[in-house]
Amino acid sequence: MSCIFCKIIDGQIPCFKVHEDEKTLAFMDINPVARGHALIIPKYHTPNIYEAPTEWLAPVMATVGRVSRAVRDEVTPDGMNILQANGPGALQSVFHIHFHVIPRFSEDNLTMNWGLNPGDMAEIGQLAAKIAARTAADQG
Ligand code: AMP
Ligand code: ZN
Repeated sequence: MSCIFCKIIDGQIPCFKVHEDEKTLAFMDINPVARGHALIIPKYHTPNIYEAPTEWLAPVMATVGRVSRAVRDEVTPDGMNILQANGPGALQSVFHIHFHVIPRFSEDNLTMNWGLNPGDMAEIGQLAAKIAARTAADQG
């Protein structure tokens, strides 16, 4: 298996988990473009939105909602973008479908194309624990 997100699902490589249920997993992006940048994936390997079965998209979107509320409440951004890239032309770099939860702050000058710049892992881990507590408490 070569997919890095499938390895995270299997526990072969670690992640800063913020939510897990039967069909979905959410964890912090380790190259965050904003404080609180998180990813939501199905526990099913499918590369993109074109091929993703609806029965997997539905629970993924429910988790996108849970994690978005938790990140909003924890980092109190001015707004939130949900981003999902398909294909090299959209700068998709991991070919296991995922949704980005990206907190936005006024005048952050964030563009939708970015490089991979590793974050502070200790800080990401501490923030993940706080967001995980909020997603656990979220009643939907
Ligand atoms: P995309 O460019 O939309 O395919 O985004 C892939 C994202 O996955 C990037 O923002 C990476 O920083 C992130 N990423 C890659 N490997 C890992 C990992 N092991 N743990 C957390 N995030 C990762
Ligand atoms: Zn995969």
